[in-house]
Amino acid sequence: MSLPLTVREDFPLLCGAGAPVYLDNAATTQKPRSVLDAEIGYYTTSNSNVGRGYHSLALAATECYEHARSAVADMIGAGAGEIVFTMNTTDATNLVADTVGGRIVGPGDQVVVSGMEHNSNLLPWRRLCEAKGAELVVVPVGPLGRVELADFAAAMGPRVRIAAVAHVSNVLGTVNPVREMAAVAHRHGVLVLVDGAQAVAHLPVDVRDLDADFYCFSGHKVYGPMGIGVLYSRSSLLEDMPPFRVGGGTVKGVSTTEPVRYVGAPARFEAGTPNVAGAVGLAAGLDYLRGLGWEAVRAHDAELVEATLEAVADLGNVDVVGDPGDLPCGIVSLSVRGIHPYDVGAHLDAHGVAVRCGVHCASTFLDDLGLVGTVRLSFAVYNTVEEIEYVRSVLKTVQPGTWTTDHPTTRFL
Ligand code: PMP
Repeated sequence: MSLPLTVREDFPLLCGAGAPVYLDNAATTQKPRSVLDAEIGYYTTSNSNVGRGYHSLALAATECYEHARSAVADMIGAGAGEIVFTMNTTDATNLVADTVGGRIVGPGDQVVVSGMEHNSNLLPWRRLCEAKGAELVVVPVGPLGRVELADFAAAMGPRVRIAAVAHVSNVLGTVNPVREMAAVAHRHGVLVLVDGAQAVAHLPVDVRDLDADFYCFSGHKVYGPMGIGVLYSRSSLLEDMPPFRVGGGTVKGVSTTEPVRYVGAPARFEAGTPNVAGAVGLAAGLDYLRGLGWEAVRAHDAELVEATLEAVADLGNVDVVGDPGDLPCGIVSLSVRGIHPYDVGAHLDAHGVAVRCGVHCASTFLDDLGLVGTVRLSFAVYNTVEEIEYVRSVLKTVQPGTWTTDHPTTRFL
């Protein structure tokens, strides 16, 4: 089964004259018309504040918001009450680090992360450990560019409280064995957070099957809008967690004399007016993806990755970063020998190709790889093999530029 040839026509930004060859989808995807329409539709017909008012419009808006929550829950095999809307993945990891971490991590305890983490799933834990006098343990990335289960298991022990790992690397596209990791961690009584920011657009995710305690992702990387993200956790855990930000919508009642009584999850974690249109747009984005069918999405992904590996194989100065033994998921990172990734990015941009170059908010991983950066090609359902062929032709003509000659770091060269 393959994707309909008309997919690209669903994305207005990619259709006009001069539209870019957009290969920066790991940073954010473009939005289909159905998502834009859903947001406009919400504001045109149903906009009101949610969970507060009792007039008809307020009830209609609340219904839109809760319907979106159910749609997100359906997509990842969760219950609606287990979905907390956040701003993005970063907001979700901070929520868990502050609330759960703040409660269960103490002096001398350990928090485990992997060597490939995005700053969004590294810095909240690092800060928590610094504040609590705990130790941050970093499981190294193995030779295949993913975290090996044995290395992860070796990091488990009686002092570990939480482990936080990426499902899919945002640098290499490699997939970590998060299901098996969760099983190992649970045998040690360790809670597991999975950063699914790069996974949800590329793999069917079932949080029950993964058995992660927390699973986070961002709407804008799954064809939805920016400013909306998701934290999944089991109801039993969520109900036990203290609030994160406090304010309107989080309390049953406040008086000057009594202790504050907070509402249950998920509302307890959604202080203030939420991004209702964003939630509606996210549900539409997930619906769009589901409509294409996982089989076709996965096959298309693999076709683009294989086409890229093949396209660069005989370019003498281009290396694929990592070991693409297992086909990576939606991402191929390249390095061009003797030319700084920013120079490569600038050259591609001058030829209408948008890619991300540099350390991808994962500088500790890039340090371990011994690189100042990579040129990251990341794919979505609207990309084509013809675009990859075009990128190959542009890469053939790249020359050293400003960054290569002026940049003080020579490790890359
Ligand atoms: N984790 C990973 C693996 C990511 O790729 C990203 C986004 N690049 C994030 C976390 C953070 O996502 P956001 O900026 O949407 O919070």
